[in-house]
Amino acid sequence: MMPVMGASMETKKAKKTVAPRVDMPCQPAEVRRANFEEVALGYTREMAMQEAARCLQCKKPLCVTGCPVEVPIRDFVAEVAKGDMDAAYRIIKSANSLPAVCGRVCPQENQCEGKCILKAKGQPVAIGRLERFVADTHIVSSACEQVTGSNACARPTGKKVACIGSGPASLTCAGLCASAGLQVDVFEALHEAGGVLVYGIPAFRLPKNIVAVEINGLASIGVNFHLNRVGGRTLDVEELRQEYDAVFIGVGAGLPVFLGVPGENLVGVFSANEYLTRVNLGRAYDFPRQDTPAYPGKHVTVFGAGNVAMDAARTALRMGAESVHIVYRRTRAEMPARLEEIEHAEEEGVQFAMLAAPVCFNGDADMRLCSVTLQKMELGEADSSGRRRPVPVEGATYDLPTDLAIVALGTRSNPILLDATPGLAQSKWGYIEVDEETGETSLPNVFAGGDIVTGAATVILAMGAGRRAGQEIVRRLVP
Ligand SMILES: Cc1cc2nc3c(=O)[nH]c(=O)nc-3n(C[C@H](O)[C@H](O)[C@H](O)COP(=O)(O)OP(=O)(O)OC[C@H]3O[C@@H](n4cnc5c(N)ncnc54)[C@H](O)[C@@H]3O)c2cc1C
Ligand code: SF4
Repeated sequence: MMPVMGASMETKKAKKTVAPRVDMPCQPAEVRRANFEEVALGYTREMAMQEAARCLQCKKPLCVTGCPVEVPIRDFVAEVAKGDMDAAYRIIKSANSLPAVCGRVCPQENQCEGKCILKAKGQPVAIGRLERFVADTHIVSSACEQVTGSNACARPTGKKVACIGSGPASLTCAGLCASAGLQVDVFEALHEAGGVLVYGIPAFRLPKNIVAVEINGLASIGVNFHLNRVGGRTLDVEELRQEYDAVFIGVGAGLPVFLGVPGENLVGVFSANEYLTRVNLGRAYDFPRQDTPAYPGKHVTVFGAGNVAMDAARTALRMGAESVHIVYRRTRAEMPARLEEIEHAEEEGVQFAMLAAPVCFNGDADMRLCSVTLQKMELGEADSSGRRRPVPVEGATYDLPTDLAIVALGTRSNPILLDATPGLAQSKWGYIEVDEETGETSLPNVFAGGDIVTGAATVILAMGAGRRAGQEIVRRLVP
């Protein structure tokens, strides 16, 4: 009976007047649409303490049940309210190895904040913003520990772990193993470590120095990064198995899906992955001082309505586009992107062409894209997912002038490593099959986690998978 009484007490407390949520300052839309600086500027110490004081310190904190890595949210928020940011940081780090990243990019509205008891009042505690504040304060002061939560690593065990890929899944696994005294080598195909955190998510949402701090933290506890090494090509999983006591595969799901409509091979049609990688990893925004150019688009059309589409559209604006349209075959209500990202895109001037689907891309005599033909749609009956199915309005098509098209329909697994690794069981969709408890694959002592197991998902879920596998590796290898 007690828990029920506790919960109803909290509901009563929540019904009392609670101060409104503290807003986070942002760069003005007309300024930020022309630069790659971070859009959201973060709380000041006073703002953070004021926001933390809104927390009811529930006996049964529902917020924690919404967090995939179970950060003790109530406890860290209590420390923020008291002004002890070091204590708050230690509490967060006990469960989350990349808090400055998660505070910025996790979909908190569907996770911890979605469960916060104050949501009944419409304004949950701003848990993500507080997490970000605490992590940033730590980065600035460098007062406490590094990425794994402790600089005091266990004594070396003489055992070795190889991680393939360097996204959040591998980074989390690597940090856990290294701090337990295992030698860790991370092998990354690209010339910079960090996965989607560096090549996908733009700097105006996740500054690259934040990711660099986390990578440097790992390097400082002994993790070795080997760049430009491609599993399945310049690196063989079987050979790694001979040399290492355990192998973790965290290669993500980076193979772009295309529309499959005529004209998609015209000059000026890109996948979001390529476009964003050129700008973010290649620093094309700084061309010609940097080597990599981006395709210059004046009239840009982006297909898709998830976070990747918003990132591509907002990046195109910052690269100097005169107009940017997002084309989606359903309505705004069905868009899968975070509401905050949709609102930020709108404020910056991105236009939304809803209930429209591409029919074909049209080019000039030089095979350069000049427009896209769109089919008007309307919403019909609900499909098996419960969403109303978009159906074409007969005879209703129109052309949208476009010289750069960016396809952001999603990604799937890249077969390079999987095809070169016999005995690695895969699902019918081409993702690696693992034991749910341990993350172990069909090959003994070879583990996998993140998007290569689940399909494209989120940073925090990839970290959760890296953590599960890392814990199992430590359990097996550390006496
Ligand atoms: C543009 C964009 C925006 C996003 N925004 C958000 C967001 O706001 N919030 C959120 O939670 N999630 C977001 N996501 C999703 C999130 O980034 C991913 O779910 C997460 O990064 C997956 O982590 P991972 O470690 O599995 O793989 P990844 O981050 O994809 O990292 C895999 C790494 O492995 C490397 N690799 C691939 N193949 C090989 C090989 N054969 N050998 C060696 N290395 C290899 C890759 O180069 C890459 O560095 C976004 C994704 C994209 C693309
Ligand atoms: S964050 Fe929300 S759910 Fe969590 S302890 Fe505070 S008020 Fe309760």
